Amino acid sequence: MSQSVTHPTDNPADTADDLLFPVLDEDGAPFWEYAARGELRVQTCAECTAPRFPPRPCCPHCQSFDSHWRATSGRGRIWSFVVPHPPLLPAYAAQAPYNAVVVELADAPRIRLVGNVVTDADARLDSVDPARLRIGAPVRAVFHTPPGGVTVPRWVLERP
Ligand SMILES: [Zn+2]
Repeated sequence: MSQSVTHPTDNPADTADDLLFPVLDEDGAPFWEYAARGELRVQTCAECTAPRFPPRPCCPHCQSFDSHWRATSGRGRIWSFVVPHPPLLPAYAAQAPYNAVVVELADAPRIRLVGNVVTDADARLDSVDPARLRIGAPVRAVFHTPPGGVTVPRWVLERP
């Protein structure tokens, strides 16, 4: 049984063009390049192996400037979430109510990423009823590429 919210126009392209895209910078560029290949990777110190996010040049633990991008399983748990309310930008208001989650990565528990839980990579932001979300619920990353936009990780529930 589908519990997703339905709409008269269920085409994700209706409003996706007006959603905000990430702003890429030199430190974070690899994160988005891997995401475009369907990989969730985390910047990791080459000296002390501590993962860090957001990406930055220097390790906050050992001050090393050497790092690499470690592959993750793409699995995590909902650490927190909110349901944004108006006022919202028009493209977001058109998809409200939706969720914004903070996901703690299973492979790097100190790393938490902000995103949205959806029914599949290309679904609308409101495709999952916020009432179904729970702190601690297992999720896995999927990757959404909007028309002309940057590929972003999103999250689907492991037990929908
Ligand atoms: Zn380090």
